[in-house]
Amino acid sequence: MPVLFIGHGSPMNAIDENEFTESWREISEKIPKPKAILAISAHYEREDSSITSNEKPKTIHDFYGFPQELYDQKYDCPGSKELITKVKDLVQEVNFDSRWGIDHGVWCVLSKMYPDADIPVVELSINRKLNMQQHYDLARKLYKLREEGILIFCTGNVVHNLMLARMSETPYSWATRFDEKVKKYVTSREDLKLVNYESLGEDALLSVNSAEHYIPLIYSLGATNKNESVSFFCEEIVFASVSMRCILFEANE
Ligand code: ZN
Repeated sequence: MPVLFIGHGSPMNAIDENEFTESWREISEKIPKPKAILAISAHYEREDSSITSNEKPKTIHDFYGFPQELYDQKYDCPGSKELITKVKDLVQEVNFDSRWGIDHGVWCVLSKMYPDADIPVVELSINRKLNMQQHYDLARKLYKLREEGILIFCTGNVVHNLMLARMSETPYSWATRFDEKVKKYVTSREDLKLVNYESLGEDALLSVNSAEHYIPLIYSLGATNKNESVSFFCEEIVFASVSMRCILFEANE
């Protein structure tokens, strides 16, 4: 199975139809249908490595001040005992979490990719206690799942600075520069540079002002090999400081 990094952006994408949601739908038609999905979401941060263990995970509306229509959305996908067992085998330190469900970083996108919600979804938390290299190393352990038809679905945003977001067609120049730099290093697979993003200067620090939306990118790198083909889509910056860049990693046959 391929690995996806998705720039999810605003929750409104769940009810809007736009170029991004169209691309998400297209990518779901392009890749093999997964047996199950393991999601690493910017919106599931914990003090440990947890995986959602509920067999009927609830739809979590983890955002504020949006129209009622968005709160009425449900994504009733099943969970998967089988998948959490597999993850536990690969990452012994994970704890089962029956309280969390499917957050908006996941369902806003999956509701466009797989509107029937017939594919089981499990989320793996972003453990705040790990550093970037440890996230990368943890992701490497997930590689094996891909051979079993599991889609590793990483959802965040390469550039994500809500403090400086504004209604503007024109992105900040630092946002554009960092987004392009990430594209360059993903293409050349200079993973270490991306793991150590803090040494990439001021552009990086403004773009990754809180790391949770960037960390899923590190998972997508960790869960793939350097010889895989890489393609980019939704290469656009919205609200001047949120990159919608998405990346598809595909193992060569
Ligand atoms: Zn988000």
